[in-house]
Amino acid sequence: MAAINDKILLVEDEPQISSFIGRGLEHEGYTVIKAVDGETGLDLAFSELPDLIILDIMLPGLDGLTVCRQIRDAELQTPILMLTAKDAVPDRVAGLEAGADDYLVKPFAFEELLARVRALGRRRAPIESDAPLHFADLTLNPTTRMAQRNERVIELTAKEYDLLELFMRHPNQVLTRDQIYDRIWGYDFGGESNIIEVYIRYLRSKLEAQNEPRLLHTVRGVGYALRES
Ligand code: CA
Repeated sequence: MAAINDKILLVEDEPQISSFIGRGLEHEGYTVIKAVDGETGLDLAFSELPDLIILDIMLPGLDGLTVCRQIRDAELQTPILMLTAKDAVPDRVAGLEAGADDYLVKPFAFEELLARVRALGRRRAPIESDAPLHFADLTLNPTTRMAQRNERVIELTAKEYDLLELFMRHPNQVLTRDQIYDRIWGYDFGGESNIIEVYIRYLRSKLEAQNEPRLLHTVRGVGYALRES
């Protein structure tokens, strides 16, 4: 899958490094969201659901290792590239143990960073694009773009598929209406349209056609979540 328009969360407190990385990635076509401390980084990892996180180890407040651990403890599988100032083995090991996918030692050339970012994108791509997704008795097959509940095959329209895939990739997680809008319709939500409600209704009627238990739940005032009850 092309890296173009992939959303990258950059958690780095040093302004010069942050702007050097940010500008370079934007020039390559990535969308870059920035945080300058660990807590904001952690919040944005969940609220923005980036495709990749570039995480500095030395941060004010929560350090990068703690942020990484908390992301993994919450079972968010976003690829994480750690940045470390020291070429110290303990730092690298700690980063990988905390759940990072790769690390890069400062100072580095932008091309090095870009190579790692692309490699992480490639590593993720086959898993995300082809392997069937499972949740409870529901299966979604990205190759055929069909869903199945137990043995019952469910045909989906393109938008229904995209919406269900988003939930299947973020199970047990509340997705806000803004996040859904941004990911499925690709522009900011104005707050007027009820298109999400309409599509959720379509999906529920297909997923529950045989009175199967509800999987797509409304979280009042927030959004929706794929969960078992
Ligand atoms: Ca730093």
